[in-house]
Amino acid sequence: MLLPLVALMYDIFFVSRTDEVIFLDKEQRLEALVKSINNDFSKNLESQGEASEISSTLLQNEFTRVVEPQVQANSGIRFGLYIPQTEKITVLGFLHNYRNLSQAEEAEREKEIFASTKPGLIATEASNEPLFRISGSWNDQVVEYISPVVLNKKVVAVMWVEERLNPFFSQSSYFGKLLRYFTLAVLAIVMIGALIIIRSLTTGVDRLKQGLNNMEKDIHQLLPDMPGELGQVAQAVNRLAVGLTEKERLEDQLRQSEHLIALGRLATGVAHELRNPIAIIKTLVELMKQEYSQVSGIEEFTRAIEEQIDRQDLEIQELLDFGRPTKVSIKECSVNDLITGVLSFSAAMLRRQKITVVLDLDSNLSKILADTEKLKQVFVNIIVNAAEAMPDGGTLEITTREEASLIQIGFSDSGEGIPAADTLKIFDPFYTTKTTGTGLGLSISYQSIQLHGGTIEVDSDLGKGATFNISLPVIPQFYDRSDLLDTKNSGH
Ligand code: ADP
Repeated sequence: MLLPLVALMYDIFFVSRTDEVIFLDKEQRLEALVKSINNDFSKNLESQGEASEISSTLLQNEFTRVVEPQVQANSGIRFGLYIPQTEKITVLGFLHNYRNLSQAEEAEREKEIFASTKPGLIATEASNEPLFRISGSWNDQVVEYISPVVLNKKVVAVMWVEERLNPFFSQSSYFGKLLRYFTLAVLAIVMIGALIIIRSLTTGVDRLKQGLNNMEKDIHQLLPDMPGELGQVAQAVNRLAVGLTEKERLEDQLRQSEHLIALGRLATGVAHELRNPIAIIKTLVELMKQEYSQVSGIEEFTRAIEEQIDRQDLEIQELLDFGRPTKVSIKECSVNDLITGVLSFSAAMLRRQKITVVLDLDSNLSKILADTEKLKQVFVNIIVNAAEAMPDGGTLEITTREEASLIQIGFSDSGEGIPAADTLKIFDPFYTTKTTGTGLGLSISYQSIQLHGGTIEVDSDLGKGATFNISLPVIPQFYDRSDLLDTKNSGH
């Protein structure tokens, strides 16, 4: 943009000024010449008589007489006289005269001169004012000084002198003009281009600003795709936001697992405290059965007590499992076989609860490496929960699929469902909505699936049922969880 501007400045302040000086110089010279000729001419005519008596021949003769000596002294200058009455011109002197012309050529030359000078002559006659002008074609320009010849306040003729402009000068001023327009055009194009760039930059910046505002409210709202360097900035900010979200997620996970570890230690302690008195009660019941076997009805009482002890034992076992998971034992297994195995021993319970099981198992599933006992426990927990969510019967659909080395297992029931706000809480230890529940089933299941490098999620429509989706890698990346393998000192 600087270059066209400099060119334009140079043209305006230097080139056009030079033109002005050249023209002024020529105008002054031609004006002085015309004035001196006109003076002599007018004086001579005045001495000849009244304006009305002066004939065109006299005008021509007088003009020739006055101008002839000037022609010799001013080569390269043409002198002309126009007589409006007869519409005739007399031309003396040459702008450039290479050879003598024939009469016909002379007549043709005069016709041409008259045609090109006529507008100026008529304008001067009408205005009675001298006129300085440029005429001719772009590469052959002449400057003319035209002046009226006035006798007794009457314009009797119009005279002019003209000089050819150096063709180099006229061409250079022509190219000067061309250069000026070209510079202006370049300047306009550059400015339009700059405006377009500025506009696209400001709209880009506006989008970025809007995107950043949205991101400030919600870090998950990433910046839109943008072209150019702004796009690269947006991508860098997006990467930062994604990294930040991931960091927050990991921190949450860490907090959760620290929380779980503390809870696990507590649960182990409680389970130990409960286990001792229960063991004593169990022994006492055994003794009672032996000592008072002859007392009628004793068997019924001891069986009731034993049932309660067994239930309590199970719950204590859950507490212990939660707080002090057993060692992991990995072997190759088929998920479909594990599911059908679990279903075979829950069949009676499901039948009793009028629950129809629909199986949609993919027979081409890859075998996986897993702790079968833990996975079976997970499936049992989910199936028992589903049954409890359908007290009046319903359908439990179990599906298995394999996608990208991941085994997807779905358990869909038509039970009461889970309120949206509780879908995350159900995996928390001790969260239960049941009067007799421990709230540990899903929490332990969550741990087991995580241990296999998988995920477990719930999707639920309140009143319509719940779907538990488990995703397990075919070859699991077992977490380095020495705490899970240590049976003495840790939670999980
Ligand atoms: P518990 O069964 O002892 O309550 P869980 O951890 O197994 O403990 O379950 C936690 C809670 O999750 C349950 O009390 C219940 O409110 C909810 N829940 C689990 N599975 C389902 C289901 N299929 N339908 C509805 N609610 C469920």
